[in-house]
Amino acid sequence: MQDKHYDVAIIGAGPAGLQAALVLARTRKSIIVFDSPEPPRNSASHGVHNFVGLDGLLPAQIREQAWRQIDLYNSAELYFEQIVDLQQIAPQQFLLRGENGTSVTARHVILAIGYRDVYPEIAGFSACWGKTIIPCPFCDGYENRDRVWGIVPHGEQVLAHLPVMAKNWASEVKVFLPTHLTLSQHQRETYAAQNIALYENEIRAIHHTGGSVEAVTLDSGERVGVGTLIWHPQEVPTALTQRVIDNFSLELDESGHIQTDASHQTAIKGLWAVGDIKGWATALGAAFMAGQAASAVVREWYA
Ligand SMILES: Cc1cc2nc3c(=O)[nH]c(=O)nc-3n(C[C@H](O)[C@H](O)[C@H](O)COP(=O)(O)OP(=O)(O)OC[C@H]3O[C@@H](n4cnc5c(N)ncnc54)[C@H](O)[C@@H]3O)c2cc1C
Repeated sequence: MQDKHYDVAIIGAGPAGLQAALVLARTRKSIIVFDSPEPPRNSASHGVHNFVGLDGLLPAQIREQAWRQIDLYNSAELYFEQIVDLQQIAPQQFLLRGENGTSVTARHVILAIGYRDVYPEIAGFSACWGKTIIPCPFCDGYENRDRVWGIVPHGEQVLAHLPVMAKNWASEVKVFLPTHLTLSQHQRETYAAQNIALYENEIRAIHHTGGSVEAVTLDSGERVGVGTLIWHPQEVPTALTQRVIDNFSLELDESGHIQTDASHQTAIKGLWAVGDIKGWATALGAAFMAGQAASAVVREWYA
């Protein structure tokens, strides 16, 4: 497809991109949505939770149902193609280029491309990811209730509350402290008082049966029994996010994500960023942000 012009181009068809498409389709703007043919970040999920009305549906089911509803308004087109570049070619005109040679222009662009997880190269991780290795207790803690939980903290900011809060779901809590993190004396005492076992060692291997974690082996060689791991892998911007930051010299906020105003518009008029690209948003949170941005697009149109 070449040289077609749209009112709004949405890049990414997760909860954020699809919610933006729904709001904009109902305002009768012409919309194109691009989504990568690669599996999305949450494709390992066994059911998206805490999305009221959609609780427990698979990510793919939510996407299919959402697109069926968006399509009813005859305003939006969906293409499964990776967008590789975005430039501004005139005021209120952006040019998008796809990896298969597609190029289209749009007056507004909504970036809803999320973030990318970098999985640790540890035997057993992939087989258990999304089932008994979970990134967030609210997402899948219920499904992993009454099991022995191992917390693998991804940063010092979670050390104080996550292990203690995990007791809400777990029968027993163990913390596997990576060697680059340090624990205060106060936190050590809290863990001891709460019967939270502490292992200050890296995990070398994960033992499981059919994706159900049974134990881990540490670098020390010690084997520790555990049924669920709370593990938020390292997050990195997608290639397109980095490219857009460079092309538009976008500023980052204090958490390292693209800076936007309260309506989710970047410093570039007509360029918006919503959902996980702004930091872990959750499905409903991502959709909420996107709905706000989509209505701001229409308000700005007539301002
Ligand atoms: C294993 C797992 C389980 C989870 N469980 C839950 C849960 O139970 N409840 C909950 O609320 N949240 C859950 N989350 C978090 C939730 O999935 C995200 O917060 C949410 O999907 C973010 O939505 P988004 O639309 O911003 O990004 P995403 O859902 O990541 O969608 C981004 C889309 O953009 C596409 N894309 C990326 N780059 C390009 C490009 N260059 N061109 C075109 N398309 C591109 C991607 O392929 C993807 O389809 C889970 C996450 C994971 C990883």
